[in-house]
Amino acid sequence: MELRLYDTLTREKRAFTPIDANNVRMYVCGPTVYDFAHIGNARPVIVFDVLFRLLRHIYGENHVTYVRNITDVDDKINDRALRDYPGLPLNEAIRKVTEKTADQFQADVKALGCLPPTVQPRATEFVLPRPDGKTDMVTLIKELIARGHAYEAGGEVLFDTQSMPDYGALSGRKLEDQQAGARVAVDAHKKHPTDFVLWKQSSPEEPGWDSPWGRGRPGWHIECSAMSAAYLGTMFDIHGGGLDLIFPHHENEIAQSRCAHGTHAMANYWMHNGFLQVEGEKMSKSLGNFLTIRELLTDWPGEVLRLNMLKTHYRSPIDWTLKGLEESYRIFREWHDLAVSIDKIDLETLSAYPKRPKFPLVVAALCDDLNSSMAIAEVHKLRNLMVHGSGDPTAFTDALRFLGLHHDNYSLVENLAEGKKREVEKLVAERTAARARKDFKESDRIRDELAAMGVVIKDSKEGTTWEIAR
Ligand code: AMP
Ligand code: ZN
Repeated sequence: MELRLYDTLTREKRAFTPIDANNVRMYVCGPTVYDFAHIGNARPVIVFDVLFRLLRHIYGENHVTYVRNITDVDDKINDRALRDYPGLPLNEAIRKVTEKTADQFQADVKALGCLPPTVQPRATEFVLPRPDGKTDMVTLIKELIARGHAYEAGGEVLFDTQSMPDYGALSGRKLEDQQAGARVAVDAHKKHPTDFVLWKQSSPEEPGWDSPWGRGRPGWHIECSAMSAAYLGTMFDIHGGGLDLIFPHHENEIAQSRCAHGTHAMANYWMHNGFLQVEGEKMSKSLGNFLTIRELLTDWPGEVLRLNMLKTHYRSPIDWTLKGLEESYRIFREWHDLAVSIDKIDLETLSAYPKRPKFPLVVAALCDDLNSSMAIAEVHKLRNLMVHGSGDPTAFTDALRFLGLHHDNYSLVENLAEGKKREVEKLVAERTAARARKDFKESDRIRDELAAMGVVIKDSKEGTTWEIAR
């Protein structure tokens, strides 16, 4: 079966040929860790998890390397650290913010059925030369200066975009067009307005590393050039992220990597997911329609959120609506109940079915540029076959597992289904009442009942809160 992927750089769907079929290599830009991830952030995570699963299916589990970084150096992180931990030294406060947020992110995407990537490097560990010799940012910047692609000006190190003849190919932006209207006065130290920062100085209040250009910190783009080279080499197969990253982030990653390594490409396929809107509007805190993954998980099983995401092709925009979620919930509930009953069939009965590829049409749909809505339609067909009693029933459950929609641990699913949230709230209130009248036997019993539902409760001076155990 031929895998075909749409490549943003060549603007065409092409047959996928890996550089090395024994080690297919993919890099996806990960989260900047300063706050809970929103449901838009979940889109690339889910989309590229599906691709990771598909590549593992085709090339073998141990023949795919998937790197998704964690951006733990960013001015938004510094601001959050100062706000949340005003008494602590900045570095400590930053570490607290990034570790807490990264842990929240891992728990969220696990609940969305995503496999952990092969490696999840943190940017701060790749700023300075490393004892293991893996590519780091300072060495890359030095290389860019040595090769005449970067220069120091105004206390910064900048990439010289005019030194690269085809700068702008990914986004289709030409250097000449960018000159017009550029705010030259603001960027007086730049040779060209599109030149971008590789290294900038840090004030004593900002996090910084000692470098050949003084104490400072890296620009945003260089971290992905360093971490991708560190784990995937100077050229690799697939680079992914959301549409908004095409320019400037991915354009600049390409410029840095190709010019530092003297290669003709950074990755052979550039893949970008479309944007997610909520009820027809851009998601924003000011509009009050900002949905974190964490909040959504208190109302819906992770699999429902995943299925809802996969109903739309990854390159199309998604309108995330309550109506859509309710429909996904109905589908998932029905599939789930059927899957649980299939899981109970004994091995002897199952072994009577002939051994053959179980869900080839689901795989075929994904092989067509990750056509996940078609894959879901194929799962519906498998479900109908099961219900009408023909064929190996595990074709259906295995297809669900392959898509990350069926696990052996059902607690989340069973316990948060349909109105369960209200039930939890009721029990929590009953427990609070029991505690108020000092009936600790009853309050402990309710706590245990909640625990059995996969819910943990936390008491504090402010009152009692609850969350899903993970
Ligand atoms: P950020 O933490 O903002 O750098 O974003 C992490 C990832 O989420 C990037 O790949 C973004 O392109 C992606 N992303 C952010 N917002 C949305 C959205 N509304 N819809 C789809 N993808 C998004
Ligand atoms: Zn990146």
